[in-house]
Amino acid sequence: MKKVTAIAFIFVLLFTVSFSGCAPKCEHEWLDATCIAPKTCSLCEKTEGDALGHDWQEATCTSVKTCNRCAETEGELAPHDMSAANYQSPSVCTVCGHTEGEKLSPFYADKNVSLISAEMGKEYNYKTGGNTNGSKNTVGKLWWEDHEVFASKEGYAEKDGYEWHTVTVKIRFNDDNAQTYGFVIAPAIDNYYSGDTSGLSDDTPETFTVNYNGVDHECIMKAPNGTLSAWKNGSCTYTGSYAWQVPVGFDGIVIFFIHSEYSGEDIFEMKNVPAIFFKF
Ligand SMILES: [Zn+2]
Ligand SMILES: [Zn+2]
Ligand SMILES: [Zn+2]
Repeated sequence: MKKVTAIAFIFVLLFTVSFSGCAPKCEHEWLDATCIAPKTCSLCEKTEGDALGHDWQEATCTSVKTCNRCAETEGELAPHDMSAANYQSPSVCTVCGHTEGEKLSPFYADKNVSLISAEMGKEYNYKTGGNTNGSKNTVGKLWWEDHEVFASKEGYAEKDGYEWHTVTVKIRFNDDNAQTYGFVIAPAIDNYYSGDTSGLSDDTPETFTVNYNGVDHECIMKAPNGTLSAWKNGSCTYTGSYAWQVPVGFDGIVIFFIHSEYSGEDIFEMKNVPAIFFKF
């Protein structure tokens, strides 16, 4: 009997094994595929398809290469994307705003001249030479009137991103030398930042280029056809009206008046040249 029992037991074992081979099908509970694993059944671990692979966001200067899906990271920060420095701004990272170095140095920064921010109606001394004798100095009283800044007006066409400036200068001469030898007015225009107004000549209106915030802008300058009053009570007054169109906020127009004996020279190559500089 003992033998029979043993055999029966083996039968039962075999039966059990083969019964479990016919188990009911798994009701799969699928987990979605991830970057690193395919679609997988949480019960039986059966898989279908492939892993998705990472969805990489390229590294920037502020974050390393990162997977948009699972936030896995790799590698190191990218270098800054630095813009070139210009007269208004140092080199700056276009992504994070990090700055390096300094703004470009304005042409006038190391020139030995004092720049005046013209006060309307205030008198300034302008020393120049006589008309019939250039070595006979005369000192005119110079003042500015009616500085206006506007987008457009009749005769001053509007241009997007630009503004007009108009201003009038008057210079009155009444000392003995002016009455005896006359006087010569030598005005000039410059760009405080670049020291360059090439393109401007005596004719009006003229175009010239201004670099503002790193971008070249085509600008207009209408320099004066100055007029002289008649001599009256020993006094003669010059009137000149300027108009210029520059990018909004540009503050680099320099109008200066130089002693007539030096006009045409590079005044920055010379020392102590009588001149008066106004920056608008
Ligand atoms: Zn399953
Ligand atoms: Zn991922
Ligand atoms: Zn950066």
